[in-house]
Amino acid sequence: MSKVYFIDFRTTSGKSMLEKLKMLVTKAGIEKIDFDKRHVAIKIHFGEPGNLAYIRPNYAKVIVDKVKKLGGIPFLTDCNTLYVGRRNEGLNHLEAAYENGFTPFSTNTHVIIADGIKGTDDVEIPVDLEFVKRAKIGRAIADSDIIISMNHFKGHEGAGFGGALKNLGMGCGSRAGKMEMHSSGKPRVDEALCRFCKKCSNYCAQNAIAYLDTKKAYINQDLCVGCGKCIGACSFNAIRPIWNEAEDILVKKIAEYTLAVIKDKPNFHINFIMDVSPNCDCCSDNDMPIVPNIGILASFDPVAIDQASVDLVNAAPVIANSILGEKENTRDKFHGLHPDTNWESGIEHAEKIGLGERKYNLIKL
Ligand code: SF4
Ligand code: SF4
Repeated sequence: MSKVYFIDFRTTSGKSMLEKLKMLVTKAGIEKIDFDKRHVAIKIHFGEPGNLAYIRPNYAKVIVDKVKKLGGIPFLTDCNTLYVGRRNEGLNHLEAAYENGFTPFSTNTHVIIADGIKGTDDVEIPVDLEFVKRAKIGRAIADSDIIISMNHFKGHEGAGFGGALKNLGMGCGSRAGKMEMHSSGKPRVDEALCRFCKKCSNYCAQNAIAYLDTKKAYINQDLCVGCGKCIGACSFNAIRPIWNEAEDILVKKIAEYTLAVIKDKPNFHINFIMDVSPNCDCCSDNDMPIVPNIGILASFDPVAIDQASVDLVNAAPVIANSILGEKENTRDKFHGLHPDTNWESGIEHAEKIGLGERKYNLIKL
């Protein structure tokens, strides 16, 4: 049974949450990892500008300082998004991170957008699983020696909830990797946005992109293998994925991508059950939390920490004037928020492929 360590949000004079977080990760055993001269990717969501529910940079500094003290070389990281927003391109993404407070002054380290300026810099990691054969992971994450995930635990529109598995699996995929998870189809060109710059065909190994007499790009659906490389290549967001993957397959693909991220690497996970918003931090707003703040968890097991987090949220009282307070009783809070999602499929699959176990021992500090 995996150990999951827990602290609540009560503080006393001289014992701030930052001190408590330091104590939590130490008790949970982070010092067992050999950090000496290793590159350490600290995977975190910087928050879409406008969202205020993401993890505060102050918490990131605690982990950065700890890793440095243990001899590691940490950096904060995320990959570009597939959807169009302030984080779908490397420089905008970096600016969004700075705007939300993730600067070297506040965190004591640097931000690296792992899949580069266009979201095309990835490494294919073979996993040969049921849905994913070769996962496309942002290069800076793939190149790192150790993975630490700092996960804001909240609801999620596609996965039911967002925790360690979602932050690692979906979050570490390049734009092509994200397309593989979100889509069972092939991208198409939005002709209204195409400016006929002809850059996209340089990225297509299948020669699937042609140019029409109407001065628009065109994807030959028979030749296209749906690799998604061309999506990042287009600076004008004219190449669009088809967001059609079934919700229960999406969460299984996320689990398989998570395996690719942490395979053969020491890894450690921290879930923040605070400001539990109904939706992802990718939204440029965050509705009020559905439950009171609960605590912070740490574990070596990404499955156990997510299962423990789900159970803690489901056991907590609903905040009456939140969106969940307006809904009928449902089988759990995440189905209540997003009835079409199927988080159980994802966590079951994660356990099946050996990512961790759903049974856990919750150790309250
Ligand atoms: S890169 Fe984008 S804008 Fe340029 S030709 Fe291709 S689809 Fe059109
Ligand atoms: S998805 Fe891949 S194969 Fe299809 S057009 Fe784009 S680059 Fe080519």
